[in-house]
Amino acid sequence: RRNLSDRINSVSPSATLAVDGKAKALKAEGVDVIGFGAGEPNFPTPDYVVEEAARACRDPRNYRYTPTAGLPELRDAIAAKTKRDSGYEVTPQQVVVTNGGKQAVYESFQILIDAGDEVIVPAPFWTSYTEMIKLAGGVPVEVLSGADQNFTPTVEQLEAARTERTRAIIINSPSNPTGAVWPEETIRAIGEWALEHDLWVISDEIYEHLNYDDAKTTYIGAVVPELRDRLLVLNGVAKTYAMTGWRVGWMIAAEPVAKAAAKLQGHLTGNVDNVAQQAALAAVAGPLDEVHRMREAFDKRRRAIVSALSEIPGVQCPTPTGAFYAFPDVTALLGRPLGPNGSVAETSSDLASLLLDEAHVAAVPGEAFGAPGYLRFSYALADDQLVEGIARFRRWVEA
Ligand code: PLP
Repeated sequence: RRNLSDRINSVSPSATLAVDGKAKALKAEGVDVIGFGAGEPNFPTPDYVVEEAARACRDPRNYRYTPTAGLPELRDAIAAKTKRDSGYEVTPQQVVVTNGGKQAVYESFQILIDAGDEVIVPAPFWTSYTEMIKLAGGVPVEVLSGADQNFTPTVEQLEAARTERTRAIIINSPSNPTGAVWPEETIRAIGEWALEHDLWVISDEIYEHLNYDDAKTTYIGAVVPELRDRLLVLNGVAKTYAMTGWRVGWMIAAEPVAKAAAKLQGHLTGNVDNVAQQAALAAVAGPLDEVHRMREAFDKRRRAIVSALSEIPGVQCPTPTGAFYAFPDVTALLGRPLGPNGSVAETSSDLASLLLDEAHVAAVPGEAFGAPGYLRFSYALADDQLVEGIARFRRWVEA
């Protein structure tokens, strides 16, 4: 009786956290590593948010549990923000405040999926989706769209993957890891297709405010309103307000679904940290000025990283128009000697390891996102680090 469960043994560790952990361990040993691994803005959380948290900390009323689904004022503010940004009405009762967007994703699969149910996952996908589906007893069905199709699936591809057991699809635009922003016609077509086949749609909108050039986030609940009964929208403050460590996210769904999520959360974690919820309230109810300022900074870095990566022989970097990731195709670097030692990477995973060990640059291999042959670079790091990191990559390839 000393074995761990099949459930936990079937799951891989988070590859993005693993790369980041390895980079941090090397740094702790004194190695000067440049980390493109973590999807974490390097900006401080806005002052007015921190001030609100400090105030909340000093008020003993906030030392207690809140309702499991969240502070009523925060649920109100999230409903109002949804109207402002997505353009449609939801009630505060449809909102469940979660410990980060991550918990909202986890709860979605736990409440929707029975053993053997299939969930369509367009790839490249965020690394935790497939593992969380497995943790719910479900079967992730990956549908890959590469750089040649702008990392955007067609309904024909999705339909080819649909079976009698398909229960849901998860979408994420703007996307981690590709930075792709799917066009409105794609999102609309996916919504109509899901409606026709009675599927749940889980829409992870955590990068909604990070769009560049002419790209615009399309909210599936706005363009296909009939879908709202079977739509779960996931979001959070982490990426929008540089609040990764505060751990506040949310789910918006039809009331019975939201109630089910709150029931689960009641046994899992209970409420989110009271003080963090008040900080999130200041963020969500506040203006988007800081967000726009950060977006401009990201946009400069985006241009810098795409042009620097594109100058490396063997690296093909499509221009991302959302989030803060570049996802270049590195297949031309595989299977040939690289670097001063003439090391050979057979896979993008080998390449990421060599890059970290020999050039001290941390990037996440495409394997973690269901897309071997690519590397993911987060450009949420400081400008000088970004320039130096990609220069190292280039020097190493050219050595
Ligand atoms: N969804 C996507 C696509 C993400 O990239 C992340 C974080 O990396 C999350 C959800 C979870 O964010 P958090 O739990 O930090 O709110």
